Amino acid sequence: MPRAVKPFAKPRALVTGGAGFIGSHLCERLISEGYRVVCMDNLRTGSLENITHLQEDPDFEYVHHDVTTYIDCPGELDGIYHFASPASPADFERIPIPILKVGALGTYNALGLAKAKGARFMLASTSEVYGDPLVHPQPEGYWGNVNPIGIRGVYDEAKRYAESITMAYHRHHRVDTRIVRIFNTYGSRMRPDDGRMIPNFIQQALSGEPLTVYGDGSQTRSVQYVDDLVEGVLRLMNSREISPVNIGNPVEYTVNDVAALILELSNSTSKMIHELLPQDDPKQRCPDITRAREALGWEPEVPAREGLSRTIRWFAERFEGAEEVPETEIRPEIGRTTG
Ligand code: UDP
Repeated sequence: MPRAVKPFAKPRALVTGGAGFIGSHLCERLISEGYRVVCMDNLRTGSLENITHLQEDPDFEYVHHDVTTYIDCPGELDGIYHFASPASPADFERIPIPILKVGALGTYNALGLAKAKGARFMLASTSEVYGDPLVHPQPEGYWGNVNPIGIRGVYDEAKRYAESITMAYHRHHRVDTRIVRIFNTYGSRMRPDDGRMIPNFIQQALSGEPLTVYGDGSQTRSVQYVDDLVEGVLRLMNSREISPVNIGNPVEYTVNDVAALILELSNSTSKMIHELLPQDDPKQRCPDITRAREALGWEPEVPAREGLSRTIRWFAERFEGAEEVPETEIRPEIGRTTG
């Protein structure tokens, strides 16, 4: 039977991992786009602080739940954004089994909910599905180079399984699905103890400690500002693109470049020191964003200098005793575009 038509009802979306770094930005944006939002999180790596400013909004609802167990979400749902998962390499060693469970059982439960509600489903996947890539830059058609039994394998394989079950629900149960492959993203609300490159370097630069560059720092990453990612996520969800889509900024930096840029933008006198490179750390990573450009008309808009300056200011406001960070003049990128 067709659903009753409710011309004035706002659409309703569930964001799993909604109290996390990316999830909280997504909840905020969905509300501003006229959605009612159910934010679900077990706060393992998310934080209520990320959503405090949304709690009074009548269109926002927080549900404390671990999605690796059956998800009960009463009422209609139009969209499910499955963003729950720890994502920092530091977590891969600290909490490997919860990572495997949320990628496997969490995705299974969220897909079951999408099927039951007739909701469109989006999986937050990752550039980690490409592993330590042998193809550069990485197009969506590249199948990757992943060590299944390495320390990073818990995240990489969980997300590869998550993509697989998402496509199986699409093909077998006709669930309307989308897969976004997210490349390195930064911005406000990253955990200070997250362990990833950008929050580590910013904290170290602001506190005058040496920046811990792993290996010789020649490995590359391409970093995108969180607002660009959220724009890409919404465009993909509103598109007809079933195949995975890379969303990332194709300007590529070495880790040494990123460290130097953060030192400059934060006006820091910290030094750089070199530490051991973690196992299976990808040597290079850069998205080929042709599909996002063509199917979504999407391009990242925030240059690294600008996004990093904003992020440094956000950390500085939370960091007692830090010297004031100057407004930085926006100058051309120092990275390379290979996408
Ligand atoms: N990295 C570093 N120092 C740090 C944290 C990370 O040199 O304090 C390096 C890490 O080895 C990797 C890159 O920075 O080559 C990006 O690491 P991140 O943890 O941000 O995520 P990844 O892209 O590896 O998933």
